[in-house]
Amino acid sequence: MADGSIPSFKAADLVIQLSSALQTKPDVTGFGSVFTDHMLTIEWSATEGWQAPHIKPFGNLSLHPACSSLHYGIQLFEGLKVYRGDDHQLRLFRPTLNLDRMANSAKRACLPAFDQSELLGCIRRLIEIEQDWIPHSGPASLYIRPTFIGTEPTLGLKKPAHALLYVILSQAGSYFNNEAEGLSLWADPKYTRAWKGGTGDCKMGGNYGCSLSAQYEAVDYGCQQVLWLYGEDHQITEAGTMNIFLHWINEDGEEELATPPLDGLILPGITRQSILEITRKWDEFKVTERYLTMGQLCSALKQQRVKEMFGSGTACVICPVGHIVYQGERLHIPCQDKTSLLTSQIVKELTDIQNGRTTSDWTLLV
Ligand code: PMP
Repeated sequence: MADGSIPSFKAADLVIQLSSALQTKPDVTGFGSVFTDHMLTIEWSATEGWQAPHIKPFGNLSLHPACSSLHYGIQLFEGLKVYRGDDHQLRLFRPTLNLDRMANSAKRACLPAFDQSELLGCIRRLIEIEQDWIPHSGPASLYIRPTFIGTEPTLGLKKPAHALLYVILSQAGSYFNNEAEGLSLWADPKYTRAWKGGTGDCKMGGNYGCSLSAQYEAVDYGCQQVLWLYGEDHQITEAGTMNIFLHWINEDGEEELATPPLDGLILPGITRQSILEITRKWDEFKVTERYLTMGQLCSALKQQRVKEMFGSGTACVICPVGHIVYQGERLHIPCQDKTSLLTSQIVKELTDIQNGRTTSDWTLLV
């Protein structure tokens, strides 16, 4: 046991096998298709417990065809980045929050617990080995994808007695390509991303695979992403794979930055939490976790009370919304000169921390 309470693997037991055929590193473009030379794998079984973690050459997995992650979606993942700062040091941004979210998803997926600080130790070692993948110039980062899958080799639907935790690293360029005009969103209540009692607050693959057809319908309507609504009153919940914020003058005439509350439907984004903490510290306007409906948004737009709306997430940090297609109407969302906006202030504060220009205990040096 690593910390005396949770049976866990230990970073100190890492077995490292380096690749003898390193790839030539391509220029960073796009997201998620170019992977580094090594990966971390850790096996677990109910009888043997956690095995020693391995860092080994990146390669295919060998899975039993009955594997429970393939049949029943018993799996989860995480997403975070490591940034190279202006001082060339490598920093992780609030990685313990990702690990907390991962532990929460694992609980819901009936996958075994582990000592999160030990996984962080293994990830730091993997990054150290792959550090040359993060360029020394430009807004460079590497995306980290911890993944945890049930590998139970039987078709019975049950708590897995075999599991595999692995971590892969991928080059990360720009995620959306239309940021100047603002993101276009398609909002149709016929699709729901998450529901009360469901798994919307967990980062499980099933939440994403089932969102794809709506995403493509959004594209058919000329939009980039889905604005996910919920309930009879068309509550605004999330935008694509981002949390959503509305900066407006609320019904009581107060300037407010609002985002939906964590009621089980919403993925607790690390960027979301950071934006809430930063803007609360500024203390310049009301910052609220509250329900927001399309009706409230439409009235506020008519009365010109909307200042801006944006999505937040690790991939894009902040993505301003330009318009929403809803009930046959194209709603224009104010999304003015980016340099003067709240969004650019938040992006500056966050990226200054991520890149080490501002010293903060939100970053962890690798
Ligand atoms: N919502 C969903 C559904 C997501 O997939 C993500 C990306 N993880 C987010 C919000 C943003 O979370 P974070 O800020 O931790 O990247």
